[in-house]
Amino acid sequence: MLLVSLPASLFALAPVFFDTAGRLQRVPAPANPGTTRFYTLVHNGQSLVKADGGGWKPALLSASEVSEVGGGGALQVFLGSVEDAASPLQRGDYWLLETSALDEQPPASIGGDGAAWEPLRARAGPSVCDALEVDEAALLATARGLAHWHNSVRFCSKCGSAEVVPYRNGKGRRCNVCSERFRPRLDASVIVLVLDATRSRCLLGRKAAWPTGRYSTLAGFVEFGETLEECVVREVCEESGCSVDRSTLDFVASQPWLFPRSLMVGFTVCAAPSEGADAALAVDEDELEDARWFSKEYVREQLGLEREAGRDGPAVEGGFHVPSRVSLARTLIESWLAE
Ligand SMILES: [Zn+2]
Repeated sequence: MLLVSLPASLFALAPVFFDTAGRLQRVPAPANPGTTRFYTLVHNGQSLVKADGGGWKPALLSASEVSEVGGGGALQVFLGSVEDAASPLQRGDYWLLETSALDEQPPASIGGDGAAWEPLRARAGPSVCDALEVDEAALLATARGLAHWHNSVRFCSKCGSAEVVPYRNGKGRRCNVCSERFRPRLDASVIVLVLDATRSRCLLGRKAAWPTGRYSTLAGFVEFGETLEECVVREVCEESGCSVDRSTLDFVASQPWLFPRSLMVGFTVCAAPSEGADAALAVDEDELEDARWFSKEYVREQLGLEREAGRDGPAVEGGFHVPSRVSLARTLIESWLAE
């Protein structure tokens, strides 16, 4: 009998939300001045969207509509171009119009019937993001993330001047006094599905602030100077007390998480052989309220019940559930279930 250990990444079936597979081209600058422009608006962290059936769509404005809403005083940032007919976004160049600096928030009605200012993510329950198609969500999240970054770099961190202005269509900011340049920064994070040595159980944790019944994969920020691999080993141990076998570490997928500025790198890893089936976990109570092992059968059954109930959430109120399809945690869990 031939025994071959296949990396988990071969089984990664679920697409990663926010990954447009290049349909939203993040080119450095617009291709030519004649290309149609679409603007997505952000004001104090909220995005302009409009109701569409039971869901949401981006409320996109034309260049002439933008000029009527005091666009001159607002920040404009080039986000990218769409040329792919497979995208739900029309062909054209896409821009952020960030209006927080205006004296008044533009009325939502500039986005047309059913338009509203909404946060993309909700602390609990369904969010706008969950109701968008991937390309639309990626566009709005990129816009929101860049709006947050531009607002967070108002002063030069080298000379203290307040004359820090966007350059290269908002791809960066530059100090007009000392010429220091700033580029958007992302915080690297790992997100990891810990499995037992037989890959038949997974370790999930929950934070006290989460909705009742929600469990998710462990995650944490990469420390300065640390490799992703070191980070996985450290974070799992810190949060749950579980030692992992670094030789079993497999990269599965990555995901931008611009709430406000993370890049999540997703892995699976197996617990060290010394961590027997009943090894006690030592949960870091500053981070998690609980962490425990769940069998593959149980997780599969619960996700199946959720699908049958037609819900993106627990099949019964307060029941076991994992984060929505928008999350990389869900991708990791579903990839494991498909192994
Ligand atoms: Zn400066």
